[in-house]
Formats: sequence, C-alpha cells, structure tokens
Amino acid sequence: MTDSRIVVAGSLNADLTIYCERLPLPGETLHGSGFAVNPGGKGANQAVAASRLGGRVTLVGAVGRDANGEMLVASTAGAGVDVSHVRRVAEPTGVAVISVEDSGENSIIISAGANGTLSPDAMDPALFDGAGVVCLCLEVPLGTVRAAAQAGHDAGATVLLNLSPYAPVGAALAHLTDVLLVNAHEASQFLGGLDMPPADAPVADWLAAAGAFAGRGLARVLVTLGAAGSVVLDAANTAEPVVRIAPTKVVAVDTTGAGDAFTGAVAARLAAGDSLAAAARYASVAAALAATRKGTQAAYPSAAEVATATP
Ligand code: ADP
Repeated sequence: MTDSRIVVAGSLNADLTIYCERLPLPGETLHGSGFAVNPGGKGANQAVAASRLGGRVTLVGAVGRDANGEMLVASTAGAGVDVSHVRRVAEPTGVAVISVEDSGENSIIISAGANGTLSPDAMDPALFDGAGVVCLCLEVPLGTVRAAAQAGHDAGATVLLNLSPYAPVGAALAHLTDVLLVNAHEASQFLGGLDMPPADAPVADWLAAAGAFAGRGLARVLVTLGAAGSVVLDAANTAEPVVRIAPTKVVAVDTTGAGDAFTGAVAARLAAGDSLAAAARYASVAAALAATRKGTQAAYPSAAEVATATP
C-alpha cells in the first residue's frame, strides 16, 4: 500500500441489536430471538473497516465517561485505529437501537449523546497534516463535518462524504466534497426526489443522474444499491463516466453496517492510491463479506479475506 493516512471524523455508538422474525408494525410488540450490544456508529465503523483492510486511520470523535464509551474506544483501538483524538465528555455515549429481521432487513433509531458535542474546534488543522483521505458522515453536527471537510481540503486530502443519515447539506460542504457516497434513498433525497435508475438501466439514465449531481457541484459520486451492487459516477473519467459494479453474490445474514464497510473500504483503497472505480470494486467485495456475518465491526473483513473472495 502507498498508505497515506486516513482521518475519520464521526460518530461512535453502542449498537443495541435485537433479532426478530420480522420488524414490528407501529404499536405492535413481538418476541425477539436474541439480543446483543456491539460497538458501532458510522465513524467508528468506517474507521474499523478501513483499518482492518490495511489503512492507517485516526478517528476523531466523542464518547461519554461510561461503559459503552470504554467498549467503543477499546474496540476501535483493538482494530488498530488511533483513538488519541476521541474525547471523553459528560454526555452519555451515543446509542443506536437496531432491529434486524430474519431476511437481513433492519430498522434503526439513534440517540446522538456524546456525538452531538463534537464541535468544529475539535477539527484542529494539525490533525489533518499529511492526510490522504478524510472520511465523513452525518452522525455528528453539520458544522463539525464542514470544519473537517475544510481542514481536509486545505491539507490537500480527498474529502469523502457519506451522506448518511441524510440531512440537507449546504453548497459550501458540497463544494468541499471530492467524493460523495450515498445509497439510492439518500441520493434521491439529495437530488430533491429524483429516483436513481435501476442498477442495470441504460448508461444514459445514469449519465442523467450524474448530471444532476454535477449540477450540485459533485462530479464524483458512488451510489450503493444494496444487493443490486453499486455505480460509480465520475465526470472526470471521460472514457468511462459511468461504471456499474455487479454485486458480489453472498447469502446475507445482517446488512447492518454494510454501507459503512463499503465507505471504510473506499477510504482505505483511495488512501492506497486506487482509482475511484477500483476502490469501489474492492469495497463491493468487502461490504458483501460484511453482510454474511452478524453485527457490524465484528463482521468486517481483513484484506486477506477480501483477496480470497475476489473473483
Ligand atoms: P446502506 O447500508 O448504506 O443502505 P447499501 O445497502 O446500499 O448501503 O449497501 C452498501 C453496499 O454493500 C452495496 O453497494 C453492496 O456492495 C454491499 N451489499 C449490501 N447488501 C448486500 C447483499 N445482500 N449482497 C451483496 N452485497 C451487498
């Protein structure tokens, strides 16, 4: 690996997961088939995913002075992530209450807790010195995401923004973003309701989507499509502005955090010098492997596992 440093500025959450035959309807109570507390949060997940795949990762975030905070710092550090910039604050550690049904489908509610205290002043420019990739998500305050994007941009890093969970971002953040990473739902929300074409739609349909993103200042976009794969939109790649990546066929057990596995893998491979399409191809295998195991961080593969699974 050429191995430039990756700075992930984002959330750490304790995932409280209950497994059930199907998700409950509003007002309904069901018996679950199991319960687990696991380390999660999009920032921590993306950091762990990138580190497992060989990335040199610094995580900037905040946890409470509680048992969940201890667990999260231990799990990210255990995966090789530099956690010296994870603050301990008075608010409780963030939590995500997750239901996973037998089909692998999930529903999630998040309480930000300590993540909500991560302020723009935590984005010390010195932290970003020499960073090749800055990886951001929207589970921390938007002003903080913008400050991190600015610091990453000023340091000459590639700013990778995972627009999840969706929130409207202003033109300033969009213009600081080098690569936008969205699932189909987030893509549609970002584009004011414009639905993404199916994975196998004609290239012209995807070019129209690329044009809509470009109109908002985003020339390079990765759209993930769950079990249908992903699409790379790259206006700068005139020879191949649309690259459709077929899914890696797996038996999905738990797709929670598949998007984070994908994002972390893209960050790792961009930091290693891959093109956007090559990074997305690699990430597609890594995320599919993550979907074959229960949990999020514990499910993330190593580089050796990805190499074995790559056709
Ligand atoms: P999110 O979790 O953010 O909604 P997606 O569901 O689009 O993201 O999943 C991200 C990526 O993970 C997909 O683009 C795909 O590469 C991979 N993935 C997710 N689910 C599956 C699956 N059932 N089979 C194979 N790959 C999957």
